[in-house]
Amino acid sequence: MKPAPVGYVRPSSLEEACRALADDPEAKVLAGGQSLVPLLSMRLAAPSSLVDINALPGLAEVEVLAGPDGTDGGVRVGALVRHADLLAHDGAARAQPLLRMALSHVAHAPIRNRGTTVGSLVHADAAAEMPAVLALLGGSVEVLSTRGARTVAGADLVVGPLESSLAHDEIATSAWFPALAAGQGAGFAEISRRQGDYALCGVAALVRLVDGYVVEARAAYLAVDDTPTVVDLLPALADGTDGTDGTDGAHLDAAADLALAALSPCGDIHATAQYRAHLARVLTTRVVREAVRHAGERGE
Ligand code: FAD
Repeated sequence: MKPAPVGYVRPSSLEEACRALADDPEAKVLAGGQSLVPLLSMRLAAPSSLVDINALPGLAEVEVLAGPDGTDGGVRVGALVRHADLLAHDGAARAQPLLRMALSHVAHAPIRNRGTTVGSLVHADAAAEMPAVLALLGGSVEVLSTRGARTVAGADLVVGPLESSLAHDEIATSAWFPALAAGQGAGFAEISRRQGDYALCGVAALVRLVDGYVVEARAAYLAVDDTPTVVDLLPALADGTDGTDGTDGAHLDAAADLALAALSPCGDIHATAQYRAHLARVLTTRVVREAVRHAGERGE
């Protein structure tokens, strides 16, 4: 199919882009186009015009920033950073290994070459990897409109299927992913029908060890509920590890039970709700073990 007729503007400044969106309530931002253009072609979206942000200066940077004590900090990802560039960024991967772990599962190389990580966050697909990672890490998105700038917490970004909490006239200018702190470890796994397809179920986990004991443990689930879901797994793991060979089976099973109690797996033509629940259980034990091992390897 072909898209319906649509207007097109390519502003050269953020002010101009914000004005174009404010002046036309039916306009949409065009970033990498890897989700929006298929929606236009299938006529599932019919905006009056596209505000192409690809000519805006200063939005294509990946910045690895140290925290006040020189250890923490994080990765700031500009709105025009392509998935492929963030995936290849060694400094970003060192600061926050979950970025590379998750990005390697995002789509296929040609789509990663064009699609933007911030666009993926705003697109708010519950099956996408990066909104779940942002929510898990407690990251955020900077947004701008003619009304000013604001920060949206990753946990508040996705409010429904393909629905973000951004107003129609807001542009996401960057995303902030906190670095892995001392003692923390991460894990990521997903199951899809083919490499590069959207996941049937995916889990990202973050664990922190102190003296060999788990003091922080949570997991984020993608493609299970309508939105990415973060579950606190600490109650199941608090006394369950020596930090060297992963938690024991009973504690991992308890963590999976806790997760399943918090999730409402949905069924569709790709997978039944029961199958998604099964995948969430299996992947929870897998990624928590991986995160504990990772934290142990990194040391405290
Ligand atoms: P666009 O398509 O340009 O925009 C998407 C939406 O976000 C639009 O509504 C647009 O208005 C809005 N938007 C974009 N940027 C901004 C901004 N800065 N401010 C405000 N609004 C903005 N993604 C995954 O996560 N995992 C996958 O496994 C996966 N598989 C894919 C497989 C295929 C075959 C295809 C075609 C896509 C797949 N994707 C997948 C989607 C891909 O990651 C997209 O790049 C991403 O979802 C959107 O990024 P984009 O830059 O292309 O955004």
